[in-house]
Amino acid sequence: MAIHEECGVFGIIGPVNPAIAKEVYHGLYALQHRGQESCGIVVNDDGIFAAHKDLGLVGDVFSEQLLSSLPGGTMAIGHVRYGTTGGNTKSNIQPMVVSHQKGNLALAHNGNLTNSLDLRDSLELSGAIFHSTSDTETICYMITRERLKTFSIEQAVLAAVKHLKGAYSLVMMSSTKLLAVRDPMGFRPLCYGKREDGSYVVASESCALDAVGASFVRDLEPGEMLVFSMEAEEDQPRSYRDHCGSKASPCIFEYIYFSRPDSVIDGIPVHDTRVRAGKILAREHAVRADVVVGVPDSGLDAALGYALESGIPYGIGLVKNKYVGRSFIAPSQDQRTDTVRIKLSPVRSVLAGKRVVLIDDSIVRGTTSRRIINILREAGAKEIHLRISSPPFRHPCFYGVDIDSEENLIANHHSVEEIADMIGADTLGFLPIESLGEMSGCPSFCSACFDGIYPAGIPADPRKDRFERKLSEARK
Ligand code: SF4
Repeated sequence: MAIHEECGVFGIIGPVNPAIAKEVYHGLYALQHRGQESCGIVVNDDGIFAAHKDLGLVGDVFSEQLLSSLPGGTMAIGHVRYGTTGGNTKSNIQPMVVSHQKGNLALAHNGNLTNSLDLRDSLELSGAIFHSTSDTETICYMITRERLKTFSIEQAVLAAVKHLKGAYSLVMMSSTKLLAVRDPMGFRPLCYGKREDGSYVVASESCALDAVGASFVRDLEPGEMLVFSMEAEEDQPRSYRDHCGSKASPCIFEYIYFSRPDSVIDGIPVHDTRVRAGKILAREHAVRADVVVGVPDSGLDAALGYALESGIPYGIGLVKNKYVGRSFIAPSQDQRTDTVRIKLSPVRSVLAGKRVVLIDDSIVRGTTSRRIINILREAGAKEIHLRISSPPFRHPCFYGVDIDSEENLIANHHSVEEIADMIGADTLGFLPIESLGEMSGCPSFCSACFDGIYPAGIPADPRKDRFERKLSEARK
């Protein structure tokens, strides 16, 4: 899979905690799958912010020594990033920290704005000078500009987000408060939990609450803002629903691929949705076979569902090398080594002489699918019937996911039979687009990358590559 989530966010507020940076580190570790390019932690030590951010994985950027060098405090936020808008440079690493006349602000963002170029233009015309190329800085500016006019950070955020279009799940910190905001359509997930020591934790996914021992309380409603404060009279977060009420459009691809299977998003366990996808595939694309094999990791749950529904035994036919990460040095073209072979190995005893149902989560260009099928053939698989637990990708995403441009998406130019032929599968079947509701259990959702219906509209220039180029040029 060559698709990347943009980011994961995390925040914690509670009694003074000398090891609060370590808590965030553990939360970010649980969210590492949402972004592997860079990460950062900002600690609020009685109104004074201390930050460490760098390019790399959480485990590489933060050593024990470095975490110990950060101060303790009552609140802290963190971020893991895979950048789609703006480059992978140090200036784009989050959380962003800004100082303004009324204090400090640290902000971590997951999502993508569709009007960031317009907002940036108007801010620059009024004198703003940008230091990064990410739309997160635009959000910081919007909030601080409002903060100078308003009495409280809550009012400033509520006023600023009125101007934002697109996807944003935000965790931010003022000198005295922790705030969490989800966009009115709820594209990206955001939830909070509580620990026995009285700390509140906010995170992109519930798996990060589990990682720091917090019990899940609930997801933020689309459009909701929660404000956490350590003041004695405020045991519960204050909820602001000024921007609630739009039709929710959570990203359906969070369930299919991005989120961890042990997370629960908007009340729906991710693992269950993937198992249901497999069951639907078994009904819609039945085939005689000897074994069902999932492509690790996000094809495994759907493979289990296919096996349960079809009665065909489930087998572990592919093993993933757990240690291939971002630091992996890919072979050069002249080495003729296939990276997929380094990441995935076949289990010959499961595959040899068998008719295999192979389950994967998606097909983008088809290159990876072809390589995996080659691996299975070489291991002796007699037939390979590829089943995909999502509908065919046909459109780019403008809401924070790095999906290839339309011309590179194989399903845009070829029929199912042609794709099967090109990747070497005996048969191929996708999850029918009509069954996304049954699969997810969501009453409404975004599925724009499959059907081209964009619930929050698209940028003024709809061609994603031109949009991003313009954005980068505008930011030089
Ligand atoms: Fe998710 Fe696709 Fe919608 Fe993007 S376009 S938010 S990836 S469903």
